[in-house]
Amino acid sequence: MNHKLYFPCPVCKRVLLVEYAKTGKPYCKCNECGVQLFVRGKQGITRFYRLLGELKIHGDTRDLINAVDYFNALKVLLADIRGKQPFFGEDPDLNLQEMAILRQIEKVKENLKEG
Ligand SMILES: [Zn+2]
Repeated sequence: MNHKLYFPCPVCKRVLLVEYAKTGKPYCKCNECGVQLFVRGKQGITRFYRLLGELKIHGDTRDLINAVDYFNALKVLLADIRGKQPFFGEDPDLNLQEMAILRQIEKVKENLKEG
C-alpha cells in the first residue's frame, strides 16, 4: 500500500492516518482521544477499504476543512448562546458556556495556524 489513507477519529473527527500492523491489518490511533481502532478479519478489512474509498479523505486538506467546519459551527453556537442572554443582566450558566466556546475557538485558531 503506497498511497496514504485516512480515517476520521470516531470521537473528535480529526483525520487519522491509517497505519498497518506487522500482519498487514489496518489500524488508526488518535493520541488525543486515546482511541485505537483495529480492523480485523477479511470481511472487516474489505468493508473498511470500501468505506475509505467512499469517504475519499485526503489527509491535510480534509483536516483543514474539518477544522474550518468546526470553527464555523462554534461561531454559530456562540451567536446562539449570546442570543439567549436575557435582555437585562446576564445568565451565569450562559456566561460559562460562552467562555468554554471562546476557549475552543482559540484552540481551533491555533490548530489552523499550525496546519
Ligand atoms: Zn480523536
